[in-house]
Amino acid sequence: SSMKTNVYRDPVLGKELIQAIKKQAKIFQEKNGRKVNLMEVCGTHTVSVSKAGLRDVFRDDIELISGPGCPVCVTSHEDIDYMIELAKQPEVIICTFGDMMRVPGSHSSLAEEKANGHDIRVLYSPLEALDIAEEQPDKKVIFLAVGFETTTPAIAATIDMAEKREIDNYYVFTVHKICPPVVELLFNDPKLKIDGLLLPGHVSAIVGRKALDFIATEFKVPSSIAGFEPLDVLAGMYDIIRMLNQGEAKVTNQYLRVVTEEGNKAALDMIAKYFEAASSNWRGIGSIEGSGLVLKPEYQKYDARNLYDITIPESSNTRGCRCGEVLSGHIKPTDCGHFGRSCTPVSPVGPCMVSYEGTCATYFKYERKV
Ligand code: SF4
Repeated sequence: SSMKTNVYRDPVLGKELIQAIKKQAKIFQEKNGRKVNLMEVCGTHTVSVSKAGLRDVFRDDIELISGPGCPVCVTSHEDIDYMIELAKQPEVIICTFGDMMRVPGSHSSLAEEKANGHDIRVLYSPLEALDIAEEQPDKKVIFLAVGFETTTPAIAATIDMAEKREIDNYYVFTVHKICPPVVELLFNDPKLKIDGLLLPGHVSAIVGRKALDFIATEFKVPSSIAGFEPLDVLAGMYDIIRMLNQGEAKVTNQYLRVVTEEGNKAALDMIAKYFEAASSNWRGIGSIEGSGLVLKPEYQKYDARNLYDITIPESSNTRGCRCGEVLSGHIKPTDCGHFGRSCTPVSPVGPCMVSYEGTCATYFKYERKV
């Protein structure tokens, strides 16, 4: 409700929290001789942090690093190119969410292919794809299944429904990702020194707090699950730096109104019924074992990868987009020569500038000093 929203945006409480965080950040800085490095793992937080002006508020106190949690952005060139080849097949209808349309592949995008006359449709709910499949039995309807644990249950539900409705011309092209393996990769990167993680509330609502405990037990890094209102984000940040200063490493839950210990069992069951972990390709990062979800062997008939013998022309990052380095926290968007010049939301060079939750788009919108 709007009442609730107001509580989580309370300016007085916000000011107090900001002072408390600054105090903790100073303690950290005095102890360690450098600023504390916090990573906001997910794109929704990247937007929240910038929109609330927190990068600016904490510019002397905290290094806020944006992470790999924008699903559209981490989709590899190869996968985008494959989607584009699928879209060119005459009997195919491609269904997708809006922000996939303008993501550049090596030579084209779905938006360009749509303009070329191919049947590509933007849906608000994946379930609509099933109606399209039923209405056009002579077509193959393919849903581009992009996303983290927040969207996977909805895609699994379409397969569940296709089974029940006996629809045999519906398929998914899955590039689903799961976060833990990439988090592990970031921690093992000697060039990064991440002191704490701000964990996304919506993914945590599905997987549950306990599933994230490995961050504390395996990597001894404190982290906090936070919602997306400014006060939620601040509460999470405070928790992390306080733990750091006290030599503690836990995964705290600052989003109790939504996130439970065990997560959403119905959603997790739905994922587990149809999907299993497999290696997956991340843009600019490469293949990471166990970081993707693919259809289980018994549901292969729904996998669009089995439909055609597609060989994609060699995929390449022809224009030197640095999304991979942005996504893995090695550079800021402003370090990329294209940023704000040859790459803008109107004419994006890479997916990080296309997606609403992309780090480059967020920096373009909120962090430019004009
Ligand atoms: Fe890629 Fe554009 Fe971001 Fe540079 S500014 S990394 S080209 S999306």
